[in-house]
Amino acid sequence: QVVTRFAPSPTGFLHIGGARTALFNWLYARGRGGKFLLRIEDTDRARSTPEASRAILDGLAWLGLGHDGEAMSQAARADRHAEVAYQLLAAGRAYKCFATQDEIEAFREAARAEGRSTLYQSPWRDADPATHPGDGAPHVIRIKAPRDGATVIADAVQGDVSIRNDQLDDMVLLRSDGTPVYMLAVAVDDHDMGVTHVIRGDDHLNNAARQMLIYRAMGWPLPVYAHIPLIHGPDGKKLSKRHGALGVDEYQRMGYPAAGMRNYLARLGWSHGDDEFFTDAQARAWFDITGIGKSPARLDFRKLENLCGQHIAATEDAALLHELQGFLAATGAQPLSEDKASLLERGMYCLKDRAKTFPELLDKAAFIMADRPIEPDGRAAAQLDNVSRGILTELTPHLQNATWSRDSLETVATATAERHGIKFGKLAGPLRAALAGRTATPSVFDMMLVLGREETIARLTDAAC
Ligand code: GLU
Repeated sequence: QVVTRFAPSPTGFLHIGGARTALFNWLYARGRGGKFLLRIEDTDRARSTPEASRAILDGLAWLGLGHDGEAMSQAARADRHAEVAYQLLAAGRAYKCFATQDEIEAFREAARAEGRSTLYQSPWRDADPATHPGDGAPHVIRIKAPRDGATVIADAVQGDVSIRNDQLDDMVLLRSDGTPVYMLAVAVDDHDMGVTHVIRGDDHLNNAARQMLIYRAMGWPLPVYAHIPLIHGPDGKKLSKRHGALGVDEYQRMGYPAAGMRNYLARLGWSHGDDEFFTDAQARAWFDITGIGKSPARLDFRKLENLCGQHIAATEDAALLHELQGFLAATGAQPLSEDKASLLERGMYCLKDRAKTFPELLDKAAFIMADRPIEPDGRAAAQLDNVSRGILTELTPHLQNATWSRDSLETVATATAERHGIKFGKLAGPLRAALAGRTATPSVFDMMLVLGREETIARLTDAAC
């Protein structure tokens, strides 16, 4: 069974790069009936905060990337990490190193002076334990790394990446205060969680070689590693704040739908032929490591908007309303009243076609959100001159008696316009102004159908007098 994981460090918001890593792992597991696990890498006590953990969980929840089981805390497993270090010690794959900081510094200085590698080579590696100063003396536990040959990471994205073993030192596993180092924690946790596929940013590629040393020393089967290129800004440079929003929460507050965001993030560095727009089910079925590119993907906000627009249009009305309410809550806006919510749902069919974000959708829904008396803006007010108000006054009783269907509304309105020797188009402006208080709106008949007879008549009557 496939087991993937997302292992964020809770030191800030959920970064868009992290979200993409989570998505890839989620897609890979979900598409294969596997498990997607979450591990919070909170071993850096000084920088990890509960707020950051919360922000990451919120971001994942918004994106709909649910994990299996409980989220694991790495810090809570320090005893287990230490246990593995002692197992390696007992097996002769690790050793106690009593070297002091001064001794290590002296080694490095001498190495520099002689033009040798400054990677520390501890004299304790092969020392007879009988010569040890005793456990009371400060010491660390180091892994006995191979000195010859190379460690080859058979990376599923990068291909074989070979790192010469003389470039990997006998890294510390347990510090002198008994705390495990990060590299040990990651290897032990990935093993214990049964992780089969490690999909993560290629900034961790070198770490993989070190984590592999621990796996090999323990005789554990290796996971598949897939190191994905980082995301770049539209200019091809390393992603930074000047490229715009980096936190997933910002995208949520800008009103992008989660499905569009997922689609967009999936396409950042992964492709399936020429497909740009796809559903979650398609993404799950299609996603594979072989489709991940070797060069960094670039952010493209136009593409994000485009995909979001398509997802809004493709989402069912009730689901869209629900997500819109979530958006309002996330931005701290007033929740919708029941009346407005049901009008919105009724009107969704004529709103969702041209909105790329929830604020755009709400803007198109201004005729629903507004309350009587409708305050026309400047351009709308200009439409409501005496002549057109007169025509509206005449139209109103005809509408009162009309069947409330698109066809008959259109017949009635066209007949009234013709009686005044104008085309219906000339009447549409004043109608828009009266019904919505603005000139750019959905079609006049859509507005009437959504608002209903009573509200339509009331708005026209308000405007006519
Ligand atoms: N905690 C690491 C990070 O946030 C990820 C470690 C890993 O995936 O192995 O960059």
